[in-house]
Amino acid sequence: MTVILNTLGALIDNGHGLGVHCLNPDCRRHVELDLPALAAKLGRDHGSMHRDLAPLMVCTACGQKRVQFTLLAPNPSRPRR
Ligand SMILES: [Zn+2]
Repeated sequence: MTVILNTLGALIDNGHGLGVHCLNPDCRRHVELDLPALAAKLGRDHGSMHRDLAPLMVCTACGQKRVQFTLLAPNPSRPRR
């Protein structure tokens, strides 16, 4: 079975999360995105690929705009709304 995860809604519906890592070597802040909140703002059909989300990200600790994403495994306790 193929699961396509190219939208925020698809990530949410499949229980996945997205981690974001700041690429400033002096910061390296890491957070898990609140995908339901992001989908409420951008729409569930908004792309979930790096090119779709990276331009919108700014590190809240240092202001860095260069980030890296990690796809997080499905977790039933992750909020879906
Ligand atoms: Zn940072």
